[in-house]
Amino acid sequence: MLCGTTSALTPEVADKMTAKIIDGVAVSGSIRAELKERVAALLAKGMRPGLAVIVVGENPASAVYVRNKMRACEQVGISSFRYAFPADAEPEQILNLIADLNIKDDVHGILVQLPLPSQFSIPQIVRTISAEKDVDGFHLYNMGGLVVGDTVFPPCTPYGVVKLLEHESIPLEGKNVVVVGASNIVGKPMALMLMQRDATVCICHAKTRDLAQFTILADILVVAAGQPNLIVPQMVKTGAVVIDVGINRLPSGKLVGDVDFEGVRKKASYITPVPGGVGPMTVTMLLANTVASAERKSNGIRSLDHATS
Ligand code: NAD
Repeated sequence: MLCGTTSALTPEVADKMTAKIIDGVAVSGSIRAELKERVAALLAKGMRPGLAVIVVGENPASAVYVRNKMRACEQVGISSFRYAFPADAEPEQILNLIADLNIKDDVHGILVQLPLPSQFSIPQIVRTISAEKDVDGFHLYNMGGLVVGDTVFPPCTPYGVVKLLEHESIPLEGKNVVVVGASNIVGKPMALMLMQRDATVCICHAKTRDLAQFTILADILVVAAGQPNLIVPQMVKTGAVVIDVGINRLPSGKLVGDVDFEGVRKKASYITPVPGGVGPMTVTMLLANTVASAERKSNGIRSLDHATS
């Protein structure tokens, strides 16, 4: 059980505090530089990593995400292949394409950009992607791997958060971590990855009663709810590390996270900005998973065959 809300900081020190802003663009840059070297090593062996991106419909946000992902691939030397379908495409068309991509030698990662139109079953799509090429980390095999601490492709957003914490040398062992948000793609895998690193993890969601009674206990607070200004300073322990995964577009057009950044930065020890925090890391970890997949192929590792049917 979580207990104790006190901080090690004296009130005088706490008063003068401003959090260190974790620069996701810079951390991404250094990871991408390493990935470029790994791609060069694969190229020297005659293999170029390849990512297939399937997009259905005309969602403007999806179009931007897909463009960013393909540009990032190009930056590190990964080939990317875009397959676009109209919004009224038949699910069979996409399922057949995935089956072809599953056996294509120059494709090491397959991603289907979400959301999809209503005629699609996302679980069915995710099940069809070979676990060997599931660089988004959504396949049941990879999800199950998270539970036992042995996943091959961790889901990109929580993977990016872990990398940010590692980069800042923020210890996790024995820390109280509160994850706000329990989705399959962010909150739940996040909680499992932090638990695997010996943190004491509490997960909150939309039905949690009195959210603040949990968040105030967090040494590390990860917020992924999609609610602007959900987390205000009174809900944060002095000196906490605050990771804001949320991306919300305000009516003014401004992009914000889930955390009152200006208020909370005066109380936290570390904080991620939106934009420029977790967002760039998500794309970078997609690249990392794609390169890792190509390396596995190059090394003849195919331990997931049984999970791909
Ligand atoms: P989702 O809608 O699938 O899940 C949201 C979760 O937050 C749910 O578990 C819900 O119960 C919980 N929640 C909602 N309102 C809450 C409240 N008032 N109090 C407590 N919990 C609440 O969303 P998602 O796909 O997990 O994404 C969450 C946010 O993260 C969104 O803003 C999304 O745009 C953003 N996101 C960012 C990245 C990135 O790269 N930075 C990647 C994925 C998602």
